[in-house]
Amino acid sequence: MFSKGSKLYSILFLKCPRCHEGAFLEAHPYKLSNFNKVKEHCPKCNLKYSIEPSFYYGSMYVSYAVGVAVAVAVYVLTLIFGLELSILGLFGSIVAVLVLTMPWIAAVSKSIWANFFFDYNKEIAEKVK
Ligand SMILES: [Zn+2]
Repeated sequence: MFSKGSKLYSILFLKCPRCHEGAFLEAHPYKLSNFNKVKEHCPKCNLKYSIEPSFYYGSMYVSYAVGVAVAVAVYVLTLIFGLELSILGLFGSIVAVLVLTMPWIAAVSKSIWANFFFDYNKEIAEKVK
């Protein structure tokens, strides 16, 4: 499931959605000066990452969904660890986690978005290895 060829691999490791070899972002998501800039082309297979200008605006909807998933995960974790937080405490923890994970959420959302449009191509992947 997390091996090359699955979309999850490309999403979680921020790799090119077509060859799963090249990097997807210009820099690490937490390198804030370069805030989640998607590369123009895959450095390995030369796939153009943006189908059209502002292509990645759509990823905002994805990041909303991922953000909600993270918030739910935080809530579930507080239940698992038996933390009895007040509503305010719970809200504060969720906000804190969301702020900390925001760069990652934004990056992963772009990767998920790209994976809606591009599929893994084994032949190309073999060629660029
Ligand atoms: Zn590629």
